[in-house]
Amino acid sequence: MENQQPSMNSRFRRVCVFCGSSPGKNPSYQLAAIQLGKHLVERNIDLVYGGGSIGLMGLVSQAVYDGGRHVLGVIPTTLMPREITGETVGEVKAVSGMHQRKAEMARQADAFIALPGGYGTLEELLEVITWAQLGIHEKPVGLLNVDGYYNSLLSFIDNAVDEGFITPAARNIIVSAPTAHELMCKLEDYEPKHSGVGPKLSWEMEQQLGYATKSDISR
Ligand code: AMP
Repeated sequence: MENQQPSMNSRFRRVCVFCGSSPGKNPSYQLAAIQLGKHLVERNIDLVYGGGSIGLMGLVSQAVYDGGRHVLGVIPTTLMPREITGETVGEVKAVSGMHQRKAEMARQADAFIALPGGYGTLEELLEVITWAQLGIHEKPVGLLNVDGYYNSLLSFIDNAVDEGFITPAARNIIVSAPTAHELMCKLEDYEPKHSGVGPKLSWEMEQQLGYATKSDISR
């Protein structure tokens, strides 16, 4: 259990959380989702997420909502029957597909955090990392490595650096920590060190996805 922190200000207005639509078997995953939600509230940060009420998505959104911060859920219309059960919390924005969902979540957020999750979480996480690598955004990306859930992914990435497929500078895009408190502290201090491809690609992404370019992002 982490200690309660006093209310504090953050450089982030809204953070996007990617996480499982399942709760996971280990109760520590569910606890971590609730702890992360409470940490966002303590730092006066709003939430954007995938809009579901199931699994870790439901827990983190409920915690942020209960703490009085704004919750924005972005969900494709076709996924609503699958990922929403009962009442949703906060504002729900319906979009037409998965690409629009990711683009809208990315546009709305000042930073990204991944909790444990499955294919969907990994896909969302790796996309914002690759967008950072290309220089499309400079928003921090955090991995909440609850009980070492992501150790094997981090080892894989370290091996990719050793084998020459990921540069050491790009490796630093991923900020990881075992607790919400440590992760938030690291994200607050994050300074991008990699060099991206450049503004043309940003512009093309913006045209295709409605995604804000680097110049729009407050740091
Ligand atoms: P999962 O980690 O598989 O439980 O999925 C977590 C969230 O990611 C759910 O809201 C899924 O709808 C979403 N998701 C699954 N696949 C994708 C994808 N290709 N792109 C964006 N989000 C996805």
